[in-house]
Amino acid sequence: MDKDFQGKQNIVQSVFNHQAIGFDVDHCLVRYKVKALTKLCYNVICQAIIDKYNYPATILDLTEGEYGFALNYLVIHIDRGIIMRIAENKEIVRCYRGFTELDVETEYGPTRVLPDFDPTSSIKQNPLYIVCSTYFENVIPLIFAKLTQYKCEQLNTIQLESNEYHVIFSQIIEGLKMNYQHFDQHKVFPINQYGRFFKQIGENPGLYMFKQNQFRTTLENLKSQGKVLFIVTNSHVEFMNLTMTYSYGQDWINLFDFIFVKGGKPEFFNNPYKPTFLLDINQPLLKGQVVNQLYSNCKIYVEGNYTLVEQYLQQRFSSLGQILYIGDHIMNDCYFTQKFTNWDGIAIVEELFEQLKPDSQHRVEAEQNIISYRSYWGNYLESNVNNQMLKNYWYSIACKELKGVVRTLDCLQNQSLWS
Ligand SMILES: [Mg+2]
Repeated sequence: MDKDFQGKQNIVQSVFNHQAIGFDVDHCLVRYKVKALTKLCYNVICQAIIDKYNYPATILDLTEGEYGFALNYLVIHIDRGIIMRIAENKEIVRCYRGFTELDVETEYGPTRVLPDFDPTSSIKQNPLYIVCSTYFENVIPLIFAKLTQYKCEQLNTIQLESNEYHVIFSQIIEGLKMNYQHFDQHKVFPINQYGRFFKQIGENPGLYMFKQNQFRTTLENLKSQGKVLFIVTNSHVEFMNLTMTYSYGQDWINLFDFIFVKGGKPEFFNNPYKPTFLLDINQPLLKGQVVNQLYSNCKIYVEGNYTLVEQYLQQRFSSLGQILYIGDHIMNDCYFTQKFTNWDGIAIVEELFEQLKPDSQHRVEAEQNIISYRSYWGNYLESNVNNQMLKNYWYSIACKELKGVVRTLDCLQNQSLWS
């Protein structure tokens, strides 16, 4: 763990007793250069929206400072076109319409609380309040603000009709699908023939990802200790192979015992009947035969569910031990995993750099990597609301409920955690 934390620490209990360790890929095994990635996501999604819905090219114009709007885990209150940050107790810390800050108490009353908002109760999103989790979805509120501002300027108004916000949101989702969702119900398309996002990553991987040489060594050590290592990713196989090859080298697959692609988390962890297919690259959907168990001669499975992992461990070791899953999505990788299974969850929260000493090398490096969100949103981990320090809502869930929270995977290098 980092030696240069001030006061607080990454919270990790010993994880040595796990029989198997599962990993998410994006923003976990694969560490992105968040600033560059945010700009890329903004550009490719906006370009798709401009082409399809005839917005002017000026939508692409964003100042360096405006990218700082794209913080992780913002919530969009669609009906009212308001984008907000939530603290523990679901208190609204700050809120905006377009890039204009609004007074929270004028909008939501003195309690500053969002009614009917409980993302811990169900894996289904509340359609009224869209939570934009992870540093892929962080551009959704940014684009939402930009398009809201553009339409308000066009109509010479400070707010739009409710249905206009829904139109804007659906256009953004379409722009997302046109870049990321390279499959439909009939076929999986090669990623270099689909949208702009994958092509840019494939052409310039070093612009968007870090090499993971250090964590590769950790994985090798874990493997040599007899740990079962596996992957559950919502990405499909081609993109996973691209990012993992860049991060861990051509032979990355040898580090893992088995892999689930298009895993459909969080349903992967709560639906024991979700089917599992062998990967078959000759099928249009890359799905081969349905299987009810994992095979030692077959590593990659499509879709699937958690029971196959448990069954495999039970058979191999004659008893099921503890399983750990690590990912950056506090809810879908960790919270719901712990809620629906007996597995432990550790969340990666890059914003933990706020707890590092200001002049430490790790902090300088982290601040260079992540977008500069503080002018719009203040500190991520804690906010001062009416002279009360409140923890970020999502971070407080991670601290209270999960087995651990770390800034990056490399913070889990310390041998004493594992051996
Ligand atoms: Mg992820």
